[in-house]
Amino acid sequence: MRVLAAEDNPVFQSMLRNMLTKWGYEALTARDGNEAWRLLQAEDAPRMAILDWMMPGMDGVEICRRIRSAGREPYQYILLLTARTESQDLVDGMEAGADDYLTKPFIAQELRVRLRAGHRILDLQNELVLAREALREQATHDGLTGLMNRTAVLEALHNEADRAGREGHPLSLLIADFDFFKTVNDTHGHLAGDAVLREGARRMQSVVRRYDALGRYGGEEFLVVLPGCDPAAGHAQASRLREAISAEPFSVGGASLRVTCSFGVSCRANPTIAQVDALIREADLALYAAKRRGRDRVETCVPESMDLAESEAILI
Ligand code: GH3
Ligand code: MG
Ligand code: MG
Ligand code: MG
Repeated sequence: MRVLAAEDNPVFQSMLRNMLTKWGYEALTARDGNEAWRLLQAEDAPRMAILDWMMPGMDGVEICRRIRSAGREPYQYILLLTARTESQDLVDGMEAGADDYLTKPFIAQELRVRLRAGHRILDLQNELVLAREALREQATHDGLTGLMNRTAVLEALHNEADRAGREGHPLSLLIADFDFFKTVNDTHGHLAGDAVLREGARRMQSVVRRYDALGRYGGEEFLVVLPGCDPAAGHAQASRLREAISAEPFSVGGASLRVTCSFGVSCRANPTIAQVDALIREADLALYAAKRRGRDRVETCVPESMDLAESEAILI
């Protein structure tokens, strides 16, 4: 653990450095408030700081205040050193955002145990951050495939429709549905079905662009949001995805399965959030047409104004 010791008195500063080193910390030092502030803002800033209250440049309390108002993560634990003993001073220091304080002169062992308590708080803070990230991941991602879940991909669709409308570019939506998936389960078992969904998701992920949103809509159905794609580009992208699924057999539990997927595409030249439902409905319509026309294929459903040249687009 790296600890910053900011203290303008050189004798006191080297004493602090020696103590910290002896206790197993990596000590960084600053001789004035400005230097301390700079070090605490750095990319790899120390998570713990001992700040003298009275320092040239910027005092310890002001540094506390700035650190807390910046609110950056990870949290930085601050112990204020002060020669002041008035209880109002203490209140001011803690209200500025210090976690703890020590009045000079102090006993070395007291600083040691207080730093240890600070260390424990930082460890707890780390655990909290990790738990929060894990929760966020769980809330937005599908447990089987690791893709965005239904809620997250629908949110991406709303956001992209909003953005495309504002910026005046087209948006395509694609619904993918695995063909005869019930047969995969019935013939090879649900675990094999799960493995096919995972591998299928991986293949689709490898084909979509970085700014496309791919998510599991439900069961064996997936949504892909394609910003900037007109019907022709949406159709072409769906064809690449179709190819990614059908070109190579899936090897599952020693067996080699030929798996295919059907795709429905919808598009708006200049979408609004209010048109999101229509986009989903039209992609669904196109998907059902793809199923009806033999599966393992792509169909597109677009408003008449967006006629797809040389294609069998369903016009509405
Ligand atoms: P179609 O070509 O018309 O789409 O036929 P299908 O059999 O794929 O369609 P249907 O909707 O009848 O069946 C979907 C199947 O997908 C049924 C369901 O058990 C299976 N399924 C949905 N989610 C999962 C899952 O997470 N794991 C597995 N193994 N199967 C799933
Ligand atoms: Mg001082
Ligand atoms: Mg289905
Ligand atoms: Mg299906």
